Amino acid sequence: MFEPPVQRLIDELARLPGIGRKSAQRLAFHLLLVERADAERLAEAIIDLRDQVKLCSRCFNVTGEEECSICRDLRRDLLRRLGERLTPGGILALTTWQFEAFARFQNRLTPWSEYNRTAADPIDTAQLEPGDHLLPWGDGGSAHRYCHFTSEEDTRKLLEDLSFEVIESYAADGREENLNRYFICRFSNTQVEPKRGGMRGGASV
Ligand SMILES: [Zn+2]
Repeated sequence: MFEPPVQRLIDELARLPGIGRKSAQRLAFHLLLVERADAERLAEAIIDLRDQVKLCSRCFNVTGEEECSICRDLRRDLLRRLGERLTPGGILALTTWQFEAFARFQNRLTPWSEYNRTAADPIDTAQLEPGDHLLPWGDGGSAHRYCHFTSEEDTRKLLEDLSFEVIESYAADGREENLNRYFICRFSNTQVEPKRGGMRGGASV
């Protein structure tokens, strides 16, 4: 038996995974010799870890929020919700608008700076991602729509991350039959518990 403060620290250290009695004693005697400032830094780091870092409530990644940035992603969240509504093996038909690939849409994009000059509620451009655009409705009126362009590669990766198996992908629609990209996917529910009464679903992002 050691002096009570030493014994107390050995007992606490020995509760950590991978630390046996002998290692706990060695660490405790090492800590006996450190400067008070070093001991405080270590104690504070443990408390801060406990107070400031959480595990994502969905995927258990380390995060500072209730959900990590991956799980908060809106596109990912939409696809995950669709997956939750499919029965195992159910089919999802997803369409993505390929406007960014066409000069006739590129030429009509409204620059964010131009929109912000007159907008009552300007957009914080620091929060935009590559592929985020504003397109005027109709023939250049004052109303705009927010559109996000996702490449075939990015959409495919997102789908596969969420346990969708892309069984077919093709272009269709528009003047040259290539304005939209379709993804026909089978949901393999290895990660998400399906809700009862699943259905076939379709969505456009
Ligand atoms: Zn997460």
